[in-house]
Amino acid sequence: MSLPLVFWEQAGQEGVLDGFTGAGPDRSGNMAFHAGGFPDRARANRKMLCETLGLPFESYTCAEQVHGTDILVVEKKDRGRGRMEPSDALPRTDALVTNEPDILLNIFVADCVPIILYDGKTRSGGLCHGGWRGTIGEIGPKAVRLMGERFGAEPGNIRALIGPSIGGCCYDVGPEVEEAFRAYPFVLSPLSCRDGKVFLDLKAANREMLLAEGLREDHIALSPLCTSCGDFPLFSYRKDGKETGRFSAFLRMPSESNK
Ligand SMILES: [Zn+2]
Repeated sequence: MSLPLVFWEQAGQEGVLDGFTGAGPDRSGNMAFHAGGFPDRARANRKMLCETLGLPFESYTCAEQVHGTDILVVEKKDRGRGRMEPSDALPRTDALVTNEPDILLNIFVADCVPIILYDGKTRSGGLCHGGWRGTIGEIGPKAVRLMGERFGAEPGNIRALIGPSIGGCCYDVGPEVEEAFRAYPFVLSPLSCRDGKVFLDLKAANREMLLAEGLREDHIALSPLCTSCGDFPLFSYRKDGKETGRFSAFLRMPSESNK
């Protein structure tokens, strides 16, 4: 059995290892302990991801995600947190940034937007988990700002990969979400109306926010895959129910020696 990887490696990015894992054809690709039912399977999948990338399992590091907008700077001492047990994960944070080269970051999603950020110049990067609350709370721009404050990364150099999530095709929202996004000063509205329902394009919203933060248009890639209606096997909270598994985004920044 192999873990399905959706690699989006961008050529010439100095040894950055980044991409997304999928659900797999047999839907055994769950990466998270808090969902999907089978922690042993998740542990095995995490090991498989490390093996596939040629990294030690000790480098695998993840957080307890709570649909908030707190961001943690991951340091050497945090290496390996959460890899075996949920109680050990980096607590209550939905984005991780680092410039440590020996740490593989992993975040979990099933409809929410996974965002990978990296700056080859400062060798820093981050992962964000952006549901509607995280998105409207500017989790992507906040991670970009923190990369600037802590590592000196400039928005004009940062590249972003906005991964598979529920699309504007399938994500109908209620009044609370609609009002929150109508009140936000987007350049391009991510809301659309069909059949008496309001649909939100979370990927587009995150893209607009990153552009407003100073990222270059040609530095932002956006996955066309929808977790709900796409052909590629992914997990969808909306479609599969709350017991569904989680797929993931991963990132390992390079050091001088492995660039
Ligand atoms: Zn869809």
